[in-house]
Amino acid sequence: MNPIPFNRAAVTGREAEYVTRVIAEGPLHGDGPFTRECHAWLERLTGSPKALLTTSCTHALEMAALLLDLQPGDEVIVPPFTFVSTVNAIVLRGARPVFVDIRPDTLNIDETKIEAAITPRTRALLLVHYAGVACEMDAIMAIAARHGLPVVEDNAHGLFGAYKGRALGTFGTFATLSFHDTKNLSCGEGGALMINDTQYVDRAEIIREKGTNRTRFYRGQVDKYTWCDVGSSYLPSDILAAYLLAQLESHDRIQRRRHELWTRYAEALAPWASDNGIRLPIVPAECQHPAHIFYLLMPSLEARTRLLAHLRSKLILAVFHYLPLHLSDMGRRFGGAEGQHPITEDVSDRLVRLPLFFQLSDEDQARVIEEVMAGGTAS
Ligand SMILES: *Cc1c(COP(=O)(O)O)cnc(C)c1O
Repeated sequence: MNPIPFNRAAVTGREAEYVTRVIAEGPLHGDGPFTRECHAWLERLTGSPKALLTTSCTHALEMAALLLDLQPGDEVIVPPFTFVSTVNAIVLRGARPVFVDIRPDTLNIDETKIEAAITPRTRALLLVHYAGVACEMDAIMAIAARHGLPVVEDNAHGLFGAYKGRALGTFGTFATLSFHDTKNLSCGEGGALMINDTQYVDRAEIIREKGTNRTRFYRGQVDKYTWCDVGSSYLPSDILAAYLLAQLESHDRIQRRRHELWTRYAEALAPWASDNGIRLPIVPAECQHPAHIFYLLMPSLEARTRLLAHLRSKLILAVFHYLPLHLSDMGRRFGGAEGQHPITEDVSDRLVRLPLFFQLSDEDQARVIEEVMAGGTAS
């Protein structure tokens, strides 16, 4: 019986060739030819006017927080059911995360609860499209417009996702992508900042290059470069961009296989799920999802613990997901307490993610399906 991991990063064939080319021809530093190609791909794939590769989605979120000039005392609305980086970007600026609970169906921020959380100190809405299934963007963009607030999309899950035909990551002033090796496309560690309001492009390039105008210098727009703003080093080596380019060029194959696997889980598990009070992912009709996560919502924490243990005994690694951020040590420092965000607290106890990756074979997936049904019944 071979072990089935939860995830293995896709490898599609040309990664080594492209990396070898960087080693042979250089440059190794950032913003070389491969980075430029990746930017063009990301802009084409999403329709976003400007992509900037970053060293991670975490860093792209930090850039967004810098570009929004978040200050101590400012508040940013964010769901508590997300990765820590979403919130760290706010906290690093001295600003305060204000959590708004999620919807029970898509597990995205509950747009009907946003307005009650807005105060005179609110500076932005920071959203996550969980599993790449869109938040209720019509309602959210209307709230943002009514209150004059910028929207940032943490789109780490949602490259290739869409809402009413429009790509995720094109709604907010900024959106961030992740190419960590747990994501659909990866270069190990990497990310991108997508800029939809082009007035921020110049400053974003400066912040990403240590607060200097080196990007303009490279383009021949200035004859020397200088320190002009705050900044850090957020650009990845062209070695990583070379790896990522191979993945971008193969995105059709990767996505096709992920969708096959996702759909097979959904179809094979549906009758069992409805017989056993288990909920499968809900994708509203206006949402096109990118097959990033296939999850089960078990009836209880005990049922989840039992299922995970059963799968482990069969050498299958399934995993839970986010713990409620408001109940973490850091979250409690911002006033987080039990019972504040009941949907997040409940879902976080019951959710299981099944193995879903490009190289997962049909045989291995069949084994996962069989063992899930064997280990996840009500009895
Ligand atoms: C993966 C992830 C991140 C962090 O991505 P890195 O590229 O590892 O920094 C941030 N937010 C969400 C929602 C994620 O899933």
